[in-house]
Amino acid sequence: MRRHRHVVEHARTLAARYGFAEVATPIFEFSDVFRRTLGDTSDIVTKEMYTFADRGGSELTLRPENTAGVARAVIGGTLGARRPFKCFYAGPMFRYERPQKGRLRQFHQIGVELIGAPEPLADIEVIALGAHLIEALGVLDRVTLEINTLADEASRRAYRSALVAHLEANEDALSEESKQRLRRNPLRVLDSKDEGDRAVLADAPVIDAHLSAEAAAFFDAVCEGLGGLGVAFTRNPRLVRGLDYYCHTAFEFTTEALGAQGAVLAGGRYDGLVETMGGPPTPGVGWAGGIERLAALVEEVVGDVAPATRPIAIVPLGARAEAAALGLAQRLRHEGFAVELTYRGSLSKRLKRADQAHAAAAVILGDDEMERGVATIRDLDSGDQVETPEAELGSHLARYAPGQ
Ligand code: ATP
Ligand code: MG
Repeated sequence: MRRHRHVVEHARTLAARYGFAEVATPIFEFSDVFRRTLGDTSDIVTKEMYTFADRGGSELTLRPENTAGVARAVIGGTLGARRPFKCFYAGPMFRYERPQKGRLRQFHQIGVELIGAPEPLADIEVIALGAHLIEALGVLDRVTLEINTLADEASRRAYRSALVAHLEANEDALSEESKQRLRRNPLRVLDSKDEGDRAVLADAPVIDAHLSAEAAAFFDAVCEGLGGLGVAFTRNPRLVRGLDYYCHTAFEFTTEALGAQGAVLAGGRYDGLVETMGGPPTPGVGWAGGIERLAALVEEVVGDVAPATRPIAIVPLGARAEAAALGLAQRLRHEGFAVELTYRGSLSKRLKRADQAHAAAAVILGDDEMERGVATIRDLDSGDQVETPEAELGSHLARYAPGQ
């Protein structure tokens, strides 16, 4: 949880700095919320949803992602009428996948959605926030940003025909899965990791030749905006998103430091989504990041995340000191210190316990010190000790308080 929170807290702080307000949507929704928005051919709907009937016979699904839930809440009006609407979320998601390193059935995402802005500026800011987070986590030099355009519907339709023609001409070389996708959702073939498929895809047409003037201008604006901010990216014309409602910008931050599960944060523009769900035409753009993968990357690159606050250990020696220790611990906690009370043992045993708790300092209280109304503060990093009147403990310990 320490690593997990490290990621979430950086994301929460930065999201607020970019004007995204935190929201929480339900962890389960009616299955249709996902089925209609993700499309019947997506991996999530065909094989990854946790779906069950409730006592009243309604069919529910544990959320596999958060965008559909946010869009549902936007349409329902619970998130207010302000546009653009900018929100941040963090929470558990569920997908029935083959569990392995970096791929869990209950995993956690942070994410942002910017709803109601058709401008490329929205895409730029959303991507810049993702890049800022990855930089703040200290892992920017191990992560690559790839971007692509899925253009508008007409451009995509023209491209789809060209792609299907190429894939059909090479159908014998395609994997079974890609043969099926070719019929149902041909753009998804671009996503395949199968070696035979990759060979066929190597000389497949790319979308560029089919872009309308508007789609090309939109993509240029996004690329120029990112370039102007110094956000490094590479164009990957084969990058598609698994979800059917994406258009224009698609992007993914990936790393090679985590083995096979290299996608750490991904997103794109989804102008058709809200309308698909029965709402008014409403553009949107957003991303989701995998908390476990980001946390693993931080651990791999930066190392262990230090605890946010180191406690002060109370080390009483003798009956009278032991009787006073709990009250002292409680007094210091009310003054804002994190305090670890050692329950038993000799001085050295208790100091060892303080060390295990990563304490920054110990307050050593003997019966003799009690008599004199003083206590000893030992800095556990340097070993330096000072004796201080008991009443002045708080001010002497001030440099060990959180945020000092
Ligand atoms: P992948 O290609 O790895 O299956 P995806 O395209 O299904 O990823 P998205 O739907 O874009 O993933 O979700 C955004 C992020 O959530 C991913 O980039 C990844 O970091 C994380 N993620 C997705 N599925 C899982 C999972 N099962 N376990 C852990 N993290 C996950
Ligand atoms: Mg997946």
